[in-house]
Formats: sequence, structure tokens, C-alpha cells
Amino acid sequence: DDLRYATRDSHAGRRVLVTGAARGIGRAIVEAFLRRGATVGVLDVSEDEVAGAVAAFEGIRQGSAIGLTVDVSDYAALATALKDAAARTGGAFDTVVNNAGISPKHAGAAHRVWEMDPAEWGRVVDVNLTGHFNTIRALSPAMREAGRGWIVNTSSVAGKTYSPIVACHYAATKSAIIGLTKHLAAELGPFGIRVNALAPGRIETPMVAGVAPEINAAQVAMTPMGRLGQPAEVADAALWLTSSEASFVTGQTIDVAGGLYMT
Ligand code: NAD
Repeated sequence: DDLRYATRDSHAGRRVLVTGAARGIGRAIVEAFLRRGATVGVLDVSEDEVAGAVAAFEGIRQGSAIGLTVDVSDYAALATALKDAAARTGGAFDTVVNNAGISPKHAGAAHRVWEMDPAEWGRVVDVNLTGHFNTIRALSPAMREAGRGWIVNTSSVAGKTYSPIVACHYAATKSAIIGLTKHLAAELGPFGIRVNALAPGRIETPMVAGVAPEINAAQVAMTPMGRLGQPAEVADAALWLTSSEASFVTGQTIDVAGGLYMT
């Protein structure tokens, strides 16, 4: 409901970058942060979709959204877009939610390593893993200088344990995010920057809608809570991880999965 995030202004004054923000989980994260009073950078690859997402949230009183059309895997373009956004919003982003990710040919069983195009392997690594590195590389100097910063990465339960429905490139990048998160938590902790990750289970987004219904039904059957998750439920976890209520939590990858593949 509309009051879901309206109870507190826990993120007022924050400048939050959300990548992959035009659809799915990223879009719900944008809404959550706006309702908590943040200025939100809505970053995605399609100019039209970015503009559409920004326009959709114009009515939210608490925060304000600005669009960034850029591919997270392109460091030079990203750095330029971030510089421009800092000029427009009056400062660098102090919070980043790295959510952009791709899962081509989602049904892993039909997509074994010997059938995989190396270019596709490279693209998944570039977006899902190097995309995280790129935003953190670009934004961590200002966070260090300020002595505060909040970073949330996106893994998956399929990065923690074997899942038959994803392909090896996707699983490898999602496992890598767990290690990246721990390592950067150690590097950046002394500067007051917390780094955590989310491991969503099966969440009802366009990514998942593109999959055969029987695959989603099988995943629901394996989920103790017996349903798909909602993007807003992942957004709630991102809010918590970046709030003062998680002030001593860093280096963690938190399942938001209704118990699917729990480890
Ligand atoms: P989605 O496909 O519905 O949305 C992803 C968004 O990222 C899209 O708007 C897309 O345009 C954008 N994007 C893709 N490549 C980009 C790039 N190079 N630069 C900038 N933006 C880019 O996906 P979703 O289901 O909302 O998933 C969001 C994240 O959560 C992904 O990292 C995904 O791997 C992860 N995840 C999703 C699920 C799930 O069940 N939906 C489960 C586990 C993890």
C-alpha cells in the first residue's frame, strides 16, 4: 500500500544510485528509497524506460528521482554519467544499490558449458560482476572522503548453492558477488562504508516472467513460503541494510528467498 515506506524518513538527505532501475526489483528499490526521502539516481540502459520510470515516481512527495541512461559495464560512460548526476543533485551518491544483472537463456539445463558462446559468457561477467566493480570504483573515493557510504550488491540464492535452472555464467557471477562483498567490506570498513549483498530467491519480475511457467511452479514448490517473492520485499531488505538499524552489519549476503535453497 501507499504507506508502506511513508512511515519514516530514514533515508532523507541520502543520494542513492540504483542500477537496473527501470524494471523489476530495481524499480521497487527506487520507489522504496524515494518514499524514505532519498534523492535517487535511476540508472538503466534504455533512455525511454529510464524516463518512464522517473515519470512514474513524480508523485512521490518525499524524494526526487533523476535518470541516468548508461550501461554499467562501460566504465568511461558510467563515470561521465555519475559526474553529471553529482552536478545535478549537488553531490556524489553516498549509497549504491548494484542491482543490474542479466540471465540470458535462463533455463540452465538447455544451456550447458559446451554450448555456451564465449561472447555470452563475457557479457554476463561484464554486466553482473564488472558492473558492480565499476560503480564502486567510481563512487568509493567520495565515500571514503566523506567517511560514510552504503553499498548493496546483488547476488542470488543461485550464487550460494547449485540451482539447476540457471546457467554456469550466471551462477559464477552471483557467487563472485559474495566474495567481492566480503573483500570490499574489509577494504572500506575502516572508512565508515558498509558493504552487503542481497541473495533473492524467486522474485516475480520481468526476468522471471520470461521463463516457462512450469519452471516457476517448480521453484515455488521448493520454496517453504510457497509463493514467489515480490520486488518490494527485496527493496525492504535494501532499505534495512542501508539504514542506521543495520549499523554494525557488513560483508553479509542476506537471502530474501522465502527459504528457497536456504544454506
Ligand atoms: P529484470 O530483468 O526484470 O530487470 C533488470 C534491469 O536491469 C532491467 O531494467 C535491465 O534493463 C537492467 N540492465 C540490464 N543490463 C544492464 C546494464 N548493462 N546496465 C544497466 N542496466 C542494465 O531483472 P530482476 O528480476 O529485477 O533482477 C534484478 C537483479 O536481481 C539482477 O541482478 C538479478 O540477477 C537478481 N536476481 C533476480 C532474481 C529473480 O527471481 N527475479 C533472483 C535472484 C537474483
